[in-house]
Amino acid sequence: MPVTTRDVRDLVEAYARVVADNRDYLVELDAAIGDADHGANLDRGMQAAVATLPDPDSATPSDVLRGVATALISKVGGAAGPLYGTAFLRASTAVKDRPELTAEDVVAAIRAGLDGVVARGKAEPGDKTMVDAWEAAARAAERALASGAPLSQILAAAADAAEEGMRATIPLVARKGRASYLGERSAGHQDPGATSTALLFRAMADQAAG
Ligand code: ADP
Ligand code: MG
Ligand code: MG
Repeated sequence: MPVTTRDVRDLVEAYARVVADNRDYLVELDAAIGDADHGANLDRGMQAAVATLPDPDSATPSDVLRGVATALISKVGGAAGPLYGTAFLRASTAVKDRPELTAEDVVAAIRAGLDGVVARGKAEPGDKTMVDAWEAAARAAERALASGAPLSQILAAAADAAEEGMRATIPLVARKGRASYLGERSAGHQDPGATSTALLFRAMADQAAG
């Protein structure tokens, strides 16, 4: 079943709810190795994204994704807003002019989003950032797509991989972002951005599962 503009809008609303529910958790994670604002930043950004969602009857999935990008870039200070904003902007461009999205389109948007985060933040896997979760998710999604799995299974595999990538950040020493200022003392803590990325992929998987 193709993904409609309404589905993408529903996903944005679902992710905004997940971020609101996990706001304090994300703040706690960021308090350990950053400046205790990741949950607040993302909650503010996603609330702005929901407030500016276009009418699904006259918008494409790409339009919805571009609106989220604009909200995140304009409303969120700090690292994560521009990084997620760039991800949504690249995802929007990847599916430009598509009235509905196939599984191939969704996987291409996931890959484009990762490329956006990397272009903007220059982090590599293993640097203890959101890239660790996002890259694992993109690879798992591409593997599942290549094996002919339906979208629900592709997104379930992506969400599982994102959570693995998130947990794998715990022992790492941060090499990018604020946590890198701590050096070795950043080890032993789960990265907040990898956590919010895992939540995003789980929200996508949950929605596709119905
Ligand atoms: P800030 O660190 O400016 O307060 P946030 O707390 O909202 O911003 O976001 C912190 C998260 O951003 C980190 O946990 C990490 O996952 C992510 N991050 C920081 N710098 C980079 C980067 N260069 N590339 C990818 N992700 C990054
Ligand atoms: Mg922070
Ligand atoms: Mg900050």
